[in-house]
Amino acid sequence: MTFKLKIIYNLLEIKFLKFLFKNNISKIQKIKWNYFLKKINQSPFYQSFIGGSFRNFPVLEKKDFLNNFDLINTKSIKYSDAVKVALKAENTRDFKPSIKGITVGLSTGTSGNKSVFLASENERAYWVAAVIDRVIGWSFKKRKIAFFLRANSNLYESVNSKLIDFNFFDLLIPNEINLKKLQALNPTILVAQTSMLLVIADALINKGLKINPEKIISIAEVLSKEDKHYLEKIFSKKIHQVYQCNEGFLAHTCEKGNLHFNEDLLIIEKEYIDKEKKRFFPIITDLNRTTQPVIRYKLDDIIHEKLDCQCQLKSTAIEMIEGRKDDVLKLLNINGEEVIVFPDFMRRAIVFSDDNIVNYSLTQVNENELNLFVAGEIQYFEKAKNSILEILKKLKVSNIIINYNKKLDHKKGTKLRRIKNEFKNSN
Ligand SMILES: [Zn+2]
Repeated sequence: MTFKLKIIYNLLEIKFLKFLFKNNISKIQKIKWNYFLKKINQSPFYQSFIGGSFRNFPVLEKKDFLNNFDLINTKSIKYSDAVKVALKAENTRDFKPSIKGITVGLSTGTSGNKSVFLASENERAYWVAAVIDRVIGWSFKKRKIAFFLRANSNLYESVNSKLIDFNFFDLLIPNEINLKKLQALNPTILVAQTSMLLVIADALINKGLKINPEKIISIAEVLSKEDKHYLEKIFSKKIHQVYQCNEGFLAHTCEKGNLHFNEDLLIIEKEYIDKEKKRFFPIITDLNRTTQPVIRYKLDDIIHEKLDCQCQLKSTAIEMIEGRKDDVLKLLNINGEEVIVFPDFMRRAIVFSDDNIVNYSLTQVNENELNLFVAGEIQYFEKAKNSILEILKKLKVSNIIINYNKKLDHKKGTKLRRIKNEFKNSN
């Protein structure tokens, strides 16, 4: 079967299962799980778990997943070989790394450690089908897609066809060059991370850029409510979101504008991290990836569940992706005890201190020391700072230094995280 036929076949399967089981997610999951088990018996790591129940499979964190890479994958691919192939491709920027016919992807985590992932041709076709089903939509009209990424991969270029003109924009290239190319393309669909969408929005206002995409999709970075509202105002369009990582296509935006987990493709478990059961780390099982099975894999993202979405979907809705585990600030109170401050508390303290505050960053750099940047006049910085101090006082954290940062704490080509903890000794 050619790659394009595989996409169509998978697209039909996704739609058929949804239709057949009328969106009964647990039924779809059960059928897919039983089928999935038959296809992972080549995984030495999972062989002994296959006869038991789902709950007996171990929950893995990223480090366990990478440490057991050689045993988890079903194609006997060694981690060292996969890294070698992926690094070579990244250095030569040829973007077509593969080993034994399997695509190798590489990503650099926030802490700098490399992560390698594998996908077969059929899995890539499934991914494309799911993206067409939930994000791009099916159309017989040719559409031009501008896709901003840190590195290209044949995973994404495989979307190219007579109906879809896929254009990769390398995030590491200077903005001016990318903006010129963007102007020349004038895409129908614009896909980029929040920080790049903000650069494009600025070019629309200040640099005479004139593009009119029908659909704008934010990926890879946290999209806060403020950034979303701001971008929607500038583009005069709804900003869609895709929640996607190496471990799979996790969630998409529904008709009401809320993210929902793709629970007909994944099993999602929740590990709650606060007493109110408001925040959780998702534990994901991807029911389609059998080359490198992703089973009960715990992500570091802090998710807030939304319980009142009015759309037709029955899958879990997401109120917001607050940030990552290592974005949580860890400060000492007056008694010398550690106080955990979730990023959302700081976000609210900053943006609610003045309506004009949109662009900011806050980084913990030392024990009880924070660097704060707020765009605009100095009074905005002062307001945000006082608001942070007030909230921290309520948490009995008073011995705190807030430094004035002249610019946004963000390195080009990396993910924008407005609130983060870079204090090395914190765990
Ligand atoms: Zn919804």
